[in-house]
Parts: sequence; structure tokens; C-alpha cells
Amino acid sequence: MSKPRVAIFDFACCEGCQLQIVNMEEEIIDLLSVVTPVEWREAISDQSTEYDIAIIEGSITRPEDEERLKTIRDRAKVLIALGACATIGGVNKLKNNFGMDDVKSSVYGEARDMPHLSTYPTKAADEIVKVDYKVHGCPIDNREFAYIVKCIATGKEPVIPYYPVCVECKEKENVCRFEYGEICLGPITRAGCDARCPSNGAWCFGCRGFVDDPNMNAGREILEKYGKTVEDLMHRIVLFNTGRKEE
Ligand code: SF4
Ligand code: SF4
Ligand code: SF4
Repeated sequence: MSKPRVAIFDFACCEGCQLQIVNMEEEIIDLLSVVTPVEWREAISDQSTEYDIAIIEGSITRPEDEERLKTIRDRAKVLIALGACATIGGVNKLKNNFGMDDVKSSVYGEARDMPHLSTYPTKAADEIVKVDYKVHGCPIDNREFAYIVKCIATGKEPVIPYYPVCVECKEKENVCRFEYGEICLGPITRAGCDARCPSNGAWCFGCRGFVDDPNMNAGREILEKYGKTVEDLMHRIVLFNTGRKEE
């Protein structure tokens, strides 16, 4: 049986998630035993319009990006969104909190009316096309990426955590960031990162997106217990999840 052909495409982003893939060590050999890359600008010079799996990194921030994404979707059997920019819009969605003219003049100054500097409110990939799988995080975890791609290539369904970061955090016996007077988005954020931030002395900023069916009542109780408000929480949520609803 021939290996699935994989193409990786980038939109608006820092390309840090692709870099995570480039930086894979022995796992990349494993991965190449089940898929064949046919387009991947960061690593190979080949290009192709024929692929089975399309991997999308980055957010959609211009009308022309939207058309390009639709073309990629039409050509692919399976589409994977890679990293927070693609899965939830991520930090690129911060601009949606401002008027687009203000955004343009802030970035481009007087050049804001130049036609090639088009922009519109940022969208995640699933706001435009059907996304079959998501590799969460900013940046992604390359082991989780390898696991998901291998599952797809071998016809298995990957298991992606649906519960909150707090579950992994408590397993690691971390002292809760709320005890330090901080606000942490762990109770409403999808696990799978092994509670990376709280385990390294920082609050969770929600880069894996909202958990399925978040327990908002429990969230409110935690805020009340620690003397925090919903507004305090919203100030944190906008960093990665502007305008995003739970899935
Ligand atoms: S999700 Fe984060 S690391 Fe990945 S491309 Fe976007 S900004 Fe960069
Ligand atoms: S530090 Fe954050 S993730 Fe850990 S238990 Fe507290 S709220 Fe949950
Ligand atoms: S702890 Fe939160 S912000 Fe940190 S990697 Fe995990 S989901 Fe992302």
C-alpha cells in the first residue's frame, strides 16, 4: 500500500509549529516510514497539487488566504490544523479587538491604503473549511503531532484530551497558580500539554483552546474563592481565544 502524500502549508504565523516538526529527531524517521512529504516549504523545495493529507499552519487574515485554503481543502482527503494560529486563531485574533483601519495604520502607518496590504478580522481554519483534526498548542508538541499523523496514516482514530489542564496539573502535584494570587486558564483549557506552564511556574494562558463543555459554574466558584472576577479572567482569555466559543 502506498504511503499517504502529505503537504504542509503556512498562513499568517511565526512558523514555530513547523519548526517543531523540523526539530524532531528520531521520531521524524518513524513518521517518514508512514507518510511521504510532497510539499513543505520549510524543509523541501518540491511542490505538489496532489496530496492526501494537508497540514495547515497559521491563521487566515486576508480574503485571498481564504480562497487558497478552500483550494487546499478541495484537493485533500484529510485536513489537519496545526497549532493555535490555525486551530483557534491564537494571538493573531488579538487584532479582532480593534477596528481594521486602526490595525492597518498601527502596523503600516501612512502606507495602509496600499492594495497588497489587505487585511480582515482573523479566522481560524475551521471558520472557513472543514477541519478533520487539530494539533493544539503554541507551539505544538512534536510528539503529539507525530502521534496524530501516524494514527491518520494507519487508519486509527487519535485520542485527543477533552478534559482540562487542571487534571494533568493535579497529577503532577503542582501548587495551583491561584494560590499565588494569579489567574490560570487551566480549568477551561484543553489538556494534552502535560500542564507545561503551571509545571514551570507560570499560569496557563489557554493556548490549546477551550476544553469540551467547560464547567463554567466550577470556574466561577474558583474565581470567587480567590477573589477574582470574570473580567479578570476575560483579560487572560483574549490572548489566545478572542471570540472563540467552547467546542
Ligand atoms: S501556534 Fe504559536 S508557535 Fe505555532 S505558528 Fe502560531 S504563533 Fe507560532
Ligand atoms: S495551576 Fe492552573 S492548571 Fe494547575 S490546578 Fe491551578 S488552575 Fe488548574
Ligand atoms: S499549560 Fe496552557 S498555555 Fe501552557 S502549554 Fe498547556 S495549554 Fe498551553
